[in-house]
Amino acid sequence: MKILFLDQSGKPGGAELCLLDIAKPYRHDALVGLFADGSFKHLLQQNSIPVEVLTTQAIQVRKESSLIQGLKSLGQLTPLITKVVKKAHEYDLIYANTQKALVVGAIASFLSHRPLVYHLHDILSPEHFSQTNIHIAVNLANNFASLIIANSQASKAAFMQAGGRPNIIEVVYNGFEPKIYQNHQSDINKLQQHLGLQGKFIVGHFSRLAPWKGQHILIAALAQSLQEVTAILVGDALFGEQDYVQQLHQQVTELGLENRVKFLGFRSDIPQLMAACDLVAHTSTSPEPFGRVIVEAMLCGKPVVAAKAGGAMELIEHGLNGFLVTPGEPQELAQVITTCLQETEITASIANNASITASERFDIATINQQIAQLLKSVLDISRN
Ligand code: UDP
Repeated sequence: MKILFLDQSGKPGGAELCLLDIAKPYRHDALVGLFADGSFKHLLQQNSIPVEVLTTQAIQVRKESSLIQGLKSLGQLTPLITKVVKKAHEYDLIYANTQKALVVGAIASFLSHRPLVYHLHDILSPEHFSQTNIHIAVNLANNFASLIIANSQASKAAFMQAGGRPNIIEVVYNGFEPKIYQNHQSDINKLQQHLGLQGKFIVGHFSRLAPWKGQHILIAALAQSLQEVTAILVGDALFGEQDYVQQLHQQVTELGLENRVKFLGFRSDIPQLMAACDLVAHTSTSPEPFGRVIVEAMLCGKPVVAAKAGGAMELIEHGLNGFLVTPGEPQELAQVITTCLQETEITASIANNASITASERFDIATINQQIAQLLKSVLDISRN
């Protein structure tokens, strides 16, 4: 099957890392078309997945954009759409992985007579997007997509709530390669030493730095936790959230936590860093569409605490394979941190449960089979 994947981002966020795993089995016959240059291109190249940057001109529309701004950007998209239509003729199917990719992919699908699949990685709700953006995404998906793959029941529910057609949407969770998340104790010790954190209780936060990802909640919780609790914040501001980064540093200074919080920036050794933690915290203040970091922590055999909303509630059963806390409540988070620090046996058995069930539930081989079947049925229908 020849697939033309489209993604607007040059940087590897969760949607892009998911695409990387989905595109791998098709790499001999696929192309990933990006709407921006950046490190995601290199990641695809390292994995021998053909990639082409189709435009380097920034598309001037943001998650909160109005209709006028959206319409203005349409004219700007014409050269890109023309290029995509031409490419699409060489492929069987267009696979749009982001919202701007959906806009371009929908028009290209119509003009090239190639079926369109849209991978929905977002919760299309007013907390995350402007009404205009939601309206455009739902209408394009309803009218042009043969199939929508939602990354969670939460994303599917929001899509339908916004008027999306229920008969074209299927939930497929992100897949992971369990092997990648197994680490040796000697490597873990080395990394802890390298970070200067041996003997500390390390809480890891793995996410791009953005207000709704809630790193400030973890910092506030740290101030209410025992002295030995330290945090590593892994991730960078991928989409220009520099004010928030400054705010986080200021918060750390004001709370006198300079020795207990480390900003590590964007890293590619997530499994190793997670393995070096005693607890992984997810603190999103708005519902998380899926939450890759939650599954990754489970696969590393680490206890995970997450904000109780959106996709996180489909991944964690409180007290069984992790912990759920009210979003935006540092006090509750601090309590879980203390529990994990003190109740080591129960915490270890919860983490162990999580690791076993996650490696079955989110195995990339099974997930990719599910996707292959769905794509095959799209092609079968389009050819009849
Ligand atoms: N991640 C990474 N390096 C970092 C921080 C995060 O590779 O420095 C990865 C993380 O391991 C996860 C992804 O980025 O696989 C984030 O996905 P998630 O679903 O948690 O959030 P999203 O970025 O999609 O909002």
